[in-house]
Amino acid sequence: MEQQSLRMAGLACAKVMREEISAEVSALAEQGITPKLCVVRVGENPDDIAYQESIERCFAKLGLAVECRAFAATATETELIDTMQALSADATVHGVLLFMPLPKGLSSDNILAHLAPEKDVDGATLASMASVYSGKGEGFVPCTAQACLDILKFYEIPLSGKRAVIVGRSLVVGKPLAMLLLGENATVTTCHSRSQDLPGLCREADILVAAVGRKNMITSDFVSPGQTVVDVGIHVLPDGGLTGDVDMDSVKEIVSAYTPVPGGVGTITTVILAKNTVRAAKG
Ligand code: NDP
Repeated sequence: MEQQSLRMAGLACAKVMREEISAEVSALAEQGITPKLCVVRVGENPDDIAYQESIERCFAKLGLAVECRAFAATATETELIDTMQALSADATVHGVLLFMPLPKGLSSDNILAHLAPEKDVDGATLASMASVYSGKGEGFVPCTAQACLDILKFYEIPLSGKRAVIVGRSLVVGKPLAMLLLGENATVTTCHSRSQDLPGLCREADILVAAVGRKNMITSDFVSPGQTVVDVGIHVLPDGGLTGDVDMDSVKEIVSAYTPVPGGVGTITTVILAKNTVRAAKG
């Protein structure tokens, strides 16, 4: 009988992480500290609001505090810089998350330059990026990239010496994940919209990560037997359901292991944000 591919559910991984976080939250509570995240949202983007609500639900369950500073889409860079400075100086706030992309005319680089790196729990400042690049584990890693690595490790997918191919080179997923996988001694290829023979490159991978932002783009032509496929994509379907960057119905018949959408990488991203907020609170 043909062996079924391994479905790498995020929930099992998230459960273990939540238990660890709860223990740390209890220890901090004994010292009178409640870890607190401040979400800074500009405009009323429905995706941002949905993400904010999922953070609020996840943090409430874990006993962490969340405050939202919502600005109109017409907010100025000066207002946001002042906010970053105030939050950096506020001892009751341990982590800060600025939702991006920002409305046109606002530079996230200029604004994030005023956020203290020790509160940058989603690894968005230049200082955090430098620490991901150095691989010394001092700063915060973008939560989604960390989620990809954590799910691979949780399911004990061999990484050392293996060939990892990442489709996507964004600062939030592709690039930091390339550094994390290099840190695990994988041989990493990062692909993008100008890569030639993308299906061929993908088929050579042991671990294939799709962070491309295109619904179901990675089809059976892009995969080969024995691979592990991590699908980072999140796309809302007309019926309200979710799908990823991988056409998983066809791909899972071929590969050895895969992360589902929903229920894969996205399930643990918010938990990692909580973990980072607790780490920031511990100082
Ligand atoms: P971006 O749009 O910032 O980056 C997409 C990347 O894919 C770019 O590097 C782009 O290349 C590349 N790309 C686009 N089209 C192609 C193509 N036809 N062939 C090859 N490469 C291509 O996306 P993000 O990294 O922000 O997000 C990626 C996906 O992950 C999205 O579906 C998003 O919804 C999801 N996401 C999920 C999260 C989670 O928690 N699970 C969190 C964040 C994002 P180029 O650089 O050349 O333009």
